[in-house]
Amino acid sequence: MEIRAPLDWANKYPILIAGPCSAESEEQVLQTAQALQNTGIDLYRAGIWKPRTRPGSFEGIGKIGLPWLRRVRNELGMPVCTEVAKAQHVDDVLAHQIDVLWVGARTTANPFSVDDLATALSGVDIPILIKNPTNPDYKLWLGAIERFYRAGIRHIAVIHRGFSSYHHAIYRNVPMWQIPLELKRHFPNLKIICDHSHICGRRDLLLSTAQYAMDLLFDGLMTEVHPSPDQAWSDARQQITPKTYQTMIDALVLRADHFNNHPASEAILKIRASIDQLDEQILHLIDTRMDLSEKIGQLKKQENLSIFQPARWDNMIKKAIRLGKEKQLSEQFVRQLLDAIHLESIEHQSKVMNQQSQTTEQKSD
Ligand code: PEP
Ligand code: MN
Repeated sequence: MEIRAPLDWANKYPILIAGPCSAESEEQVLQTAQALQNTGIDLYRAGIWKPRTRPGSFEGIGKIGLPWLRRVRNELGMPVCTEVAKAQHVDDVLAHQIDVLWVGARTTANPFSVDDLATALSGVDIPILIKNPTNPDYKLWLGAIERFYRAGIRHIAVIHRGFSSYHHAIYRNVPMWQIPLELKRHFPNLKIICDHSHICGRRDLLLSTAQYAMDLLFDGLMTEVHPSPDQAWSDARQQITPKTYQTMIDALVLRADHFNNHPASEAILKIRASIDQLDEQILHLIDTRMDLSEKIGQLKKQENLSIFQPARWDNMIKKAIRLGKEKQLSEQFVRQLLDAIHLESIEHQSKVMNQQSQTTEQKSD
């Protein structure tokens, strides 16, 4: 796919998108845009149609808000974007010269809706920003990109806004950073913007999450900004004032993705070589461990024991977490690591057991 960056973002870093969660009044839309004018943002955002999880909350001002966005564009010279979820939204937005569209997380999750939007947009080369689907499904996100691409849209960027979960102690939407990083690995030219407002769901985490995204080489940020955040009609807890936004952007440390002739690079390369060696050793160790799993699988088969032994597993995991704590490894990491090793071990044992029974079955045929 030959995806191109929207607007003039090809060499812009970081790309900054900001504005209120929802357009509420003409005054609020213009006041926020004016306050953001000198912060150097590249695109002004405001939701006109709001996909709310439950009915009864504010569902957007509707198309009467589109001329307000057009005023921002024409009077303040800022490109503007809003969310579209239906073909009718596309028609309305195109009639009001909106510069960029975004596709919300709930829409990306539904291929029928994506197809409807793609059809409504075919032949129109307007840039679109595709948010990740609400569920952590890499292929569904990729599928939405492909559907728009097939409709002839070339100016595409994506927005990582985290993934829904039943309950998470910290984030409103769990970031699962590995999913957008996988997209970047496959499409190095695709611009990936981090919507830290919807990931965090609360103000106090916005800066650290934005910095984390910058450290992972995200191309930019989308941030919800409101003149009186506590009074916002939607997503009040995650919005910040234009002044706080400016302070946050000024505090960001930007990183480079390559070494210049920096004195640290030699040292980094040396450490990387040692890390590569260790990673290899880890894989060798795991291989040896799986040999043992297969041996134990054979014995369990002979003694007619189940592969999974709950008490043994409980013991192993507790011991590993204790050891991990001593070594400053987080419980979450130790659990994930042990889970992965345990699952692989079960696979190996199951193969040994079933191979034997398959051979027996074949023999008895
Ligand atoms: C939004 O950007 O205001 C929004 C509704 O986002 P999402 O689709 O990520 O929930
Ligand atoms: Mn919002």
